[in-house]
Amino acid sequence: MAYCYNCQPRESGEYIWVLGNQIEMTDFLMDQGVPESKREEVASGLYCLNCGTEQDLSSEIGQKSAEEELADEQWDQWRSEYAPKLEEFVDWLTKYPYLGTDHPLGREFLEQIAEFPTSTFTRDRWWRARRVEGPSRLVPKDMGPPPKPPRSEGRYNHHGQRVFYLASSKEDAAAEVLGEGECLSWVQEFEIRDRSKLLDLTAPMAHEDMGAIPILLAGLAWSRAHMASDDPDSEWKPQYFLPRFIADCARRHRFRGIVFDSPKHYGENLVLFRWKRSDIVEVGDPTLLEWQPPSEEDMPF
Ligand SMILES: [Zn+2]
Repeated sequence: MAYCYNCQPRESGEYIWVLGNQIEMTDFLMDQGVPESKREEVASGLYCLNCGTEQDLSSEIGQKSAEEELADEQWDQWRSEYAPKLEEFVDWLTKYPYLGTDHPLGREFLEQIAEFPTSTFTRDRWWRARRVEGPSRLVPKDMGPPPKPPRSEGRYNHHGQRVFYLASSKEDAAAEVLGEGECLSWVQEFEIRDRSKLLDLTAPMAHEDMGAIPILLAGLAWSRAHMASDDPDSEWKPQYFLPRFIADCARRHRFRGIVFDSPKHYGENLVLFRWKRSDIVEVGDPTLLEWQPPSEEDMPF
C-alpha cells in the first residue's frame, strides 16, 4: 500500500487517481488473506506510506505498480551491492586515474555504457556563454567550438581534448562559466542540427520506469557521484575522474557527446566530442547577460 486518496492530485476540487493502482481496502485486505472478521481492525491500523494519512475499511488505496516494484528492487540492489563498490571505484580512480578498467566496476561501466540510452532530445537550441574579460564586443565566431585544444580540463574532457560545452538556456550557460561574485557574460544561441548518438545521463529523471534503466545509470542518478562539485580555486579536481572516465567509455562506444545534469541549475548541459561545423549554426549575435545567481533556496541542490 503505497498511496491513498489524499496523495492524488486534484483538479478543480476533484481527485484524479494518478499514483498507484487503485484498489478498495476491502479487496486489498482480502488479497492479503486477512479474514473478514479482522478487516476493520486491520484497516484502521494502517497508514498511507506516502503521506501518513490514517486509513479505514472504506478507504481506497493505491498499490505500487509493477514498474515501481521493479524500481524498488533495483534501488535495493544498488544500495547493497553497487553503492559501496562505487565509492571504492571513485577512490581507485583518484589513485590510478588511467587504470579505471583495472577495477571490476570500471569494466562494468565500460560494458554497460554501450547500453545506456541515447538522448531523445528534440531540443535543437542550445547556449554557450563566455565570461566578459574585456571591453571588446564578441562576435559569433568567438562563441563557436574552440578552434584549438584547450589548456584546461573539464568535467567531461581531459586537458587538450577539444570539446564543445553548451547549456539549455542562456542563464544556465552563464551559471556554468561564472565564478562566485561574477555576473557578466556573453551568451550565444546555437542551433545544433545533428543530435544523434548523444549519451543521455539525464534519462532516469525523465523516465517513469526506473527499473528499465541500466542499474549503473540509475545509480549515477541516485548517487550523483558524477556531479560532485569541484573546488574552483584548486587545480586538483578528483571529482572529475568519474565523469571523465564515463566520457572515455562514451567515446569508446562512439557516442558523439553527453547530455547531463548540472549541480548549478535545473536545465541540461550538453558536451559534444565531435561535430561537423555545418551542424552547429549561430543564431543571431552574442549578447551580454547580467546574471543574477538564484537565491540559496532556489538552488537545485
Ligand atoms: Zn497518502
